[in-house]
Amino acid sequence: MERRTFGSTTLELVRGDITEQEVDAIVNAANARLAGGGGVDGAIHRRGGPSIMEECRKIGGCPTGSAVATGAGRLPARHVIHAVGPVWRGGTHGEDEQLASAYRRSLELADELGARTVAFPSLSTGAYRFPVDRAARIALGAVRAWLESAPTRIELVRFVLFDEATLDAYRRALAELGD
Ligand code: ADP
Repeated sequence: MERRTFGSTTLELVRGDITEQEVDAIVNAANARLAGGGGVDGAIHRRGGPSIMEECRKIGGCPTGSAVATGAGRLPARHVIHAVGPVWRGGTHGEDEQLASAYRRSLELADELGARTVAFPSLSTGAYRFPVDRAARIALGAVRAWLESAPTRIELVRFVLFDEATLDAYRRALAELGD
């Protein structure tokens, strides 16, 4: 199952590259210093150009579990939402709640910015080593709960998964969400 509707919002899963998404806002898997890095973060700054990092420097940082917004430079999106997921430390340091919070705060920001279409990568499951099956359940559960908790102008939430194993984990988690 690759698409479901919650309230008036469609949630979909695709395999792809977040930097190519023609949506109003893409979410970056950022670090707390907003300092740039590898993975999603590296790809966004490389393809988006230097203006995104200039804005990040002015903002200075972002706590784990939260998010901040900048422009999108040369990317096709209009906004980049820099979300800071937790580094996996065994699962007993509040990682689940921090991950859910990063998704919720990103959606709040996207809604405040007037975004109707939003694309997420799989936060924390690369360099931050969060186990992907667990992360997928938390991500989809948090997004669903947020969409069902209040009216929103967001019409589409797309998860853009970079490899087949990650897409499969999100497919399983979506199927397990229940009605
Ligand atoms: P984190 O530091 O939060 O773990 P990473 O960027 O290292 O973030 O990885 C998060 C996930 O994003 C991983 O599944 C990784 O394979 C994937 N990824 C890497 N580059 C891209 C990209 N350009 N578009 C979408 N997903 C990507």
